[in-house]
Amino acid sequence: MSGCIFCSIVAGDIPADVVSSTEHTVSFRDIAPAAQVHVLVVPRDHHRDIASLAVADPAAAADLLAQARQVAGQEGFDDFRLVFNTGESAGQTVFHAHGHVLAGPELPAGAE
Ligand code: 5GP
Ligand code: ZN
Repeated sequence: MSGCIFCSIVAGDIPADVVSSTEHTVSFRDIAPAAQVHVLVVPRDHHRDIASLAVADPAAAADLLAQARQVAGQEGFDDFRLVFNTGESAGQTVFHAHGHVLAGPELPAGAE
C-alpha cells in the first residue's frame, strides 16, 4: 500500500535490519528497541492489524506466529514476549499488521 512504511520495508524501498524472511513474512529490528531483542514480524501483504490479517489470511497469521519463536531462537532466547498493539487507543502507530518479538535477560514489566 503506498505510503505504508512497512510495505516499503517489505518491498526493499527503505532500509531495515532484516533478520529473517519467509513466504508470508519479513522480520526486522525495531528502530527504537524496547528490549535487548526487539524484532517486528510483519506479513508481506498489507493488512491494518493482526485481527484483520487472521481473518483475511490465516496461513500468513500462522506463519507470523511461528516466526516469533524462530526469531527469538536465532537471537539466542527460548523465552520471548509477543505483543500486538491493535488499534490506536491500544498504542498501535503503524497500521500494517506486526508482532513485536521481545526477548532478553530482563524484559520490561509493561507491554511493549
Ligand atoms: P506499534 O506502536 O504500531 O505497535 O509499533 C510500531 C513500531 O514500529 C514501533 O515500535 C516503532 O519503533 C517501529 N518503527 C516505526 N517506524 C519504523 C521504521 O521505519 N523502521 C523500523 N525498523 N521500525 C519502525
Ligand atoms: Zn503496509
